[in-house]
Amino acid sequence: MTRAAIPANTRLVAEECGVAGIWTPEDVPSAEPARLAFFALYALQHRGQESAGLAAGDGVRVRVIKRMGLVGQAFAEPDLEQLVGNVAMGHTRYSTTGSSRIENAQPMVVHDPALGSLAVGHNGNLINARELREELLERGALFATSSDSEVLLKVIEYAPGRTWDERIRNALPRLQGAWSLVFMSARAIYAARDPLGVRPLVLGRRGAAHVVASETCALETIGAEFVREVQPGEVLRLDGDGVTIIDETAAERRALCIFEFVYLASASSRLGGISMYAARERMGEILAAEHPAEGDVVIPVPDSAIPSAIGFARRSGIPFREGLIKNRYIGRTFIQPSQQLREHNVALKYNTLAEVLEGKRVVVVDDSIVRGSTSAPIVKLLRHAGATEVHMRICSPPIQHPCYFGVDFARRAELIAAHKSVEEIREHIGADSLGYLSLDGLVRATGGTANDFCSACFSGDYPIPIQLELDKSSLEGDARRLPVRTG
Ligand code: SF4
Repeated sequence: MTRAAIPANTRLVAEECGVAGIWTPEDVPSAEPARLAFFALYALQHRGQESAGLAAGDGVRVRVIKRMGLVGQAFAEPDLEQLVGNVAMGHTRYSTTGSSRIENAQPMVVHDPALGSLAVGHNGNLINARELREELLERGALFATSSDSEVLLKVIEYAPGRTWDERIRNALPRLQGAWSLVFMSARAIYAARDPLGVRPLVLGRRGAAHVVASETCALETIGAEFVREVQPGEVLRLDGDGVTIIDETAAERRALCIFEFVYLASASSRLGGISMYAARERMGEILAAEHPAEGDVVIPVPDSAIPSAIGFARRSGIPFREGLIKNRYIGRTFIQPSQQLREHNVALKYNTLAEVLEGKRVVVVDDSIVRGSTSAPIVKLLRHAGATEVHMRICSPPIQHPCYFGVDFARRAELIAAHKSVEEIREHIGADSLGYLSLDGLVRATGGTANDFCSACFSGDYPIPIQLELDKSSLEGDARRLPVRTG
């Protein structure tokens, strides 16, 4: 076994966020809803590892605890004992707008003298946050954070309406971009999804309790049954009246993020009725047909490319083996949200299996290439372990455009495929050959049609017109001048 290090966090796709909410009918409020929200977040850890927050409502008050770090490290039993109530929600965050600071952690809360508190957890990204924020500042709003999610919450706070239902209904049409939201008042959970349905959100049931979560894997973890997806444009209220649709906005098309299928969602989740694991296997099969390789073994870059490598091996007839072993205690590789932190991060380590690689022509399957800074060290590692040839196959098309809808890809200038041809990228990473799955192949692997998805990072065809070169820290200057309030 050869042990070698490659630069840490060289896998530079940032994950977005995970949200979960639960309403329970218990007569006596307890910490059980918060405990369920905690374990739902635990299952959604892959969607964000920077901070985690839980909130509980007991019919009168909303209490929030949020901390930096992984879900399992952020909370202890005494925290859950403080979070007593019939409703609870949670959020696990990776910053896509706003830097990595505790005040940007979620849930965020507003307090209205007449209506009480409203907490929010947001997965996605608002593309008109700056304009909305400027308008709210003129109306006297104070901001404590640099997050677009606080803007969203303030839009609701300042919207007309005598109930939270009315304010949410009046506020959401003002938002542009991607949002899968869980709100919580002291006695109800709300769930909302943008009209294009860019980010996932599912509804479940656990006995008499109602649950919403970013992905089905969270439902499974807490023993809840999948009921249905929250539809694009839908706003639901979960309370003692059951599940009530309080608003519906029809859009001309849908635009579920196709990168959820490639990488973001858990392999154990289902999206639109489609198993992520099965879709990734099909990606590998189609990739093998589009870009066959002469090899002795097919290996995945663990963990996300494992099903695709299995599919590639099956279609090509080349044996599947594991040639790279990931240090299981490091976790996924893009925890840090800024280039500054990335550059100072500790090394990410893979171990190579020389007994699998030595003297072999290796086909290595990965999910995507963003900057190219992961692929080159991997190729080097494989050669160092004795591979005679390294053929890299990628289960997505070249990423040529930034994402404005909640995935923190590099800026366009940093995207290798925006500036180099496939042959130039091959040369850059030092592989003997390089093949990318076509966009058509990717769509076929999902079982959907091109009109179902956003695929803008591959095609440049954004489902919403993009006018600005948005920057995730674009709200920071204003926030620093304002006093920090905690939710
Ligand atoms: S641009 Fe790419 S990552 Fe962003 S929502 Fe669209 S498909 Fe997903």
